[in-house]
Amino acid sequence: MCVSPSHFAQHLAVIRERANPIRLSELVRGLEEDRIPPRAVVVTFDDGYADNLYRAKPLLEQTAVPATVFVITGRIGGELWWDELARIVATASAPNLSIELPGTGFRWGSGGSAGSDPRTELLQALQRALQSLGDDARADALAQIRDSLADGTPGRVTHRCLDADELSALAGGDLIEVGAHSHTHPDLASLTGEDQRREVERSKAALEQLVDRPVQGFSYPHGSFNDASRRIVRECGFASACGSTPDLSRRRSDLFALPRLFVSDIDGATFAKWLGWWLGD
Ligand SMILES: [Zn+2]
Repeated sequence: MCVSPSHFAQHLAVIRERANPIRLSELVRGLEEDRIPPRAVVVTFDDGYADNLYRAKPLLEQTAVPATVFVITGRIGGELWWDELARIVATASAPNLSIELPGTGFRWGSGGSAGSDPRTELLQALQRALQSLGDDARADALAQIRDSLADGTPGRVTHRCLDADELSALAGGDLIEVGAHSHTHPDLASLTGEDQRREVERSKAALEQLVDRPVQGFSYPHGSFNDASRRIVRECGFASACGSTPDLSRRRSDLFALPRLFVSDIDGATFAKWLGWWLGD
């Protein structure tokens, strides 16, 4: 899910040279008025990691490429559960990595299959177990994992979310728009309408207070949404919402289900090839 700063700098140079980088709000206006600028590209980041300020923003400024960062308002300054879990399992001092999570049916012995790395296996099993839990149950399970396995290694600065001051610094200037990415990063489509509305409303209110300006963009956690999500996001006053369906935005694209293309840690030449395919060169 990560792109190195040097590759990201190369991607931005390619975008600057061969495409027309615009803001998400400009794309939304273009779609509303049925005139998207030619070769338009919008850059977005999900989850609001601190390195969006320290590593990405300086590179965006150097190339004057605008971007939108979608923030999880319930995790300001904190670690996301999957990062904390990965850190705990990677640094666990327990000689035999065994753990039980009462109430979830999860039980893991120190065995594992021959030839594979027991930490990787345990991490993957715990990721699957925690992914399926609601936010409260997941917090309980994480607390148990912390008690059983954590060795006191602190969270990594590259793997934590922007705190309130960092978020203000990121949103400062007029190059970076900040959008909401829910309050706790749930799978929205699996929630009731009422719970979805709570997540969406709360993230908008909290973020507007943090950055002291209206927040227009939303991005669905895990790319998960249904018809109710689209309606709720619109009713809560957002102008658009991004999903994770890999496609281009076109005339008449649904403003509340904007597709996005995933970019992995590839070099500039490969990225230039991808961009050429996307732009139909
Ligand atoms: Zn996310």
